[in-house]
Amino acid sequence: MLKKRTGVDLLQALTSGALVCGLDGRIVYANPALGRLIGAAAEQLAGNVFTEIVQPPVKVDCALCLGLQSGDISEVHSGFLKVFTQNGAVEELKVKIKHSRLGEEGVLSLIDPFSEDTILTQAHTDFVSTVSHEFRTPLTSIKGFADTLLHYGAQLPDEEKRRFITIIKDQADRLIRLVENLLAASRLGASRMDLSYRPIPLKKLLEKVAQSIQAKALSKTKVQRVFELSVNPESIELWADADKLEQVFINLMDNAAKYSPADKPVSVKAEYLPEDDGLVRVVVQDQGAGIPADLLPRIFTQFYRVENPLKQEVEGTGLGLYIAKSITGAMGGQIWAESTPGKGSAFTVVFPAATPERQAVHRHRLHAPEDEG
Ligand code: ADP
Repeated sequence: MLKKRTGVDLLQALTSGALVCGLDGRIVYANPALGRLIGAAAEQLAGNVFTEIVQPPVKVDCALCLGLQSGDISEVHSGFLKVFTQNGAVEELKVKIKHSRLGEEGVLSLIDPFSEDTILTQAHTDFVSTVSHEFRTPLTSIKGFADTLLHYGAQLPDEEKRRFITIIKDQADRLIRLVENLLAASRLGASRMDLSYRPIPLKKLLEKVAQSIQAKALSKTKVQRVFELSVNPESIELWADADKLEQVFINLMDNAAKYSPADKPVSVKAEYLPEDDGLVRVVVQDQGAGIPADLLPRIFTQFYRVENPLKQEVEGTGLGLYIAKSITGAMGGQIWAESTPGKGSAFTVVFPAATPERQAVHRHRLHAPEDEG
């Protein structure tokens, strides 16, 4: 049977570092796990000020961590713990901090190292919450309009019924896109990609993608989204898998449309680069809010969405660019982003052109016996 234990006994036994501070920020108690984390005896910490042990976290307004004696504490965030090494030097260990108020008495802070596992767990939690939200929104709408049609359909004018059915269809399409994206991402994760190469006329493909995004935008916002396409020379053909290539441009051009004002044109410029081994460069440039430079590498990772007001307003899962990058890489291309916050973003993709040499090599490979290479 469990022995009856006091609060302090429990904190003593905890594997997370624990600190109890008064409201003046002075440490009243530190547990042995915290002593182990910073390399000092826990008993000697009492009387120190919290900020002498924990560095204020970057960009977090937490009254306790900033050494302020009033103001809100931010409940969960990350920061740095000062670690005292054997030679007396001080190093910093990135930690996750969870503060809980102890009524008017003070604050209990639980402190754990911020490991790769924590980051993965966080990414997974974010994913589950993003996906649940993305599914729930269209489902709620489908159910609501279907219920209304079921109960009041007979009294509604035909035009109204048609409007409701269109909404149901649009939301079902949104669910299908979401499921397709999730499946595409999981297939990439398992590195299963069947590519069937052939020459793809680029101008035709870009026009097709632009038209499908324009139709979607028009039904949603009633604004005609403008894509300024230029393909030089117009006859450019890429050496790629048609469906996969289309998916790359859908993701890039759809993002440009989603994350920039509806009345600002999106430019899509393609150029043949003969001096670069027959490559083609396509730049999709918008005039949207842009992306901070330090986040540019992260937008190509799975499930990452930039934290800004657009995240709530704009439908998305954080999978589009991950899929675009994986597909581009698999087809021998490259993709990267440049952005000026407040001015817009430019996404560049470089793909091999369908040169006669490439096609000949491919034909040769197809017809060559296995052991030839
Ligand atoms: P999502 O489904 O969220 O659009 P993506 O993988 O396509 O996922 O993009 C990841 C994130 O990168 C987006 O959530 C957004 O924050 C940012 N992003 C992508 N394209 C643009 C753009 N053209 N302008 C501004 N932000 C962008």
